[in-house]
Amino acid sequence: MIPARSELVIGSLIVSADGHGEETEVLNPADQEVIGYAPVADAELVDQAVTAAADAFPSWSKLPATRRASHLSAIASWIRSDTLRLAHILTLEQGKPLSEATGEVQAAAKAFDYYAAEAVRVYGQTIPTESETLRSLVLRQPFGVVAAITAWNYPLGLMSWKIAPALAAGCTVVAKPSKEAPLTVLEVVSGAVRSGLPAGVLNSVNGGGGTVGNLLASHPKVAKITFTGGTETGRHLLKLAAEDVKSVLMELGGHSPMIVAADAPMDRAVADGVKRSFRNAGQLCNSVNRIFVVRSVADEFIGRFAASAARLVVGPGLDQPEPDIGPLTNAETRDNVEDHVADARRRGAEVLVGGTRPDAERLSRGFFFLPTVVVGTDEMAMMNTETFGPVAPIMVVEDLDEAILRANALQFGLVSYLYTRDLRTALEGAERLEFGTVNVNNVGGGDVPFPYPGWKHSGLGVELGHQGLEEYLRTKHVRIEIGYR
Ligand code: NDP
Repeated sequence: MIPARSELVIGSLIVSADGHGEETEVLNPADQEVIGYAPVADAELVDQAVTAAADAFPSWSKLPATRRASHLSAIASWIRSDTLRLAHILTLEQGKPLSEATGEVQAAAKAFDYYAAEAVRVYGQTIPTESETLRSLVLRQPFGVVAAITAWNYPLGLMSWKIAPALAAGCTVVAKPSKEAPLTVLEVVSGAVRSGLPAGVLNSVNGGGGTVGNLLASHPKVAKITFTGGTETGRHLLKLAAEDVKSVLMELGGHSPMIVAADAPMDRAVADGVKRSFRNAGQLCNSVNRIFVVRSVADEFIGRFAASAARLVVGPGLDQPEPDIGPLTNAETRDNVEDHVADARRRGAEVLVGGTRPDAERLSRGFFFLPTVVVGTDEMAMMNTETFGPVAPIMVVEDLDEAILRANALQFGLVSYLYTRDLRTALEGAERLEFGTVNVNNVGGGDVPFPYPGWKHSGLGVELGHQGLEEYLRTKHVRIEIGYR
């Protein structure tokens, strides 16, 4: 195939990858073939992008919300009309099976539609005063230029969760996807601008986090940093933001526990656990990362879970029939998975399924790893830090109290899963679990209408839902004396 040459949008300037300037090579993780090039922004281009966004802010923020909403709807329609092409690029650069990539593109369109509807639902307040002639108004106004920096595991989904609410609120945006998988995001930014968005409202830059990301986040004209990625990078960005007292929205790493109680609906627990452990090859912030199963049902759960995981098919995301699991996105992630499996074996854990790369010769150039089921204790590294791979560690516990204690023991607080038939266990468990989302008997979530906050080291602020729009607005108090003569 001929590699795609993507472009950056910087105000009214289009910078194309033309083989002359600095570019990132984007690899297909299924075979390491080059599938695209993206231009790398230097300090001057980053400055131009932020300046273009700052220049566009006054007119974009003043535009009536109904008209901003129309622009967002136009972007949603454009994404929908181009779904297949975008999904194809996404599978090629990130690895997930085509139907999952299609779902991610559709979710991005949904985000633009949702925030088009929310754009007109920004309400202020009036506060009663102690004087007949004093009025007190509370306004909600956009921050200004937003730097949006995101991870590679759901490159388009994660970026649309930032761009859509920020634009709806009246902010302007400079988007920096991960250099590991930037093509789909860069395509969507170009497409959004071609669909009629005024120049400067939405801009894109590309390049490594340590260079381009850093320049963008520390630019003095950036008013808000919205970030999705690892906790360590988040910490670094928080320090940068502190220097300049910038506002932040942080969606950071997770390490989601799944608790299987003695009265769990077993069919559902097994099916959901397998689905959420191995989706996107486990490269999911809300993957099931550690399973605590109560001893009385442990044999049944573990046996059925392992049998189901062993049936999953691994292969390139464009294969037909479609595989269940694509490759990991890069070599570093696979190295981490292999380290975690080796650590588990050293600690005496039992690897029931997988634990290695697949044998098939045709998969040997890709970053594949077999779905892996491990039974051990929560001393294993994989039960303490993100593996970000297709690995499901299981620990047998005595009862629900022990499961909740262990689930809460880590500093991660993104998502947790609880399986029980008892309403009281469900409600009390949900109240005790220290996570921004508690899913009871389901593995949904990360869906646009619902808030998705990270607790503890998993984040600051709330992405998605109406609160996801409020994050891009700040409060102003207007106090008016009307009693003068
Ligand atoms: P990273 O934190 O490594 O990178 C995320 C983004 O930050 C990338 O665009 C990266 O650029 C950029 N970046 C890296 N260093 C800097 C820096 N010094 N200054 C500015 N930007 C920087 O995360 P990964 O991409 O490896 O993604 C995996 C992580 O993301 C996992 O921890 C996962 O849990 C988390 N995540 C959280 C989600 C949530 O909603 N809470 C959702 C999805 C993922 P580049 O890659 O180009 O170098």
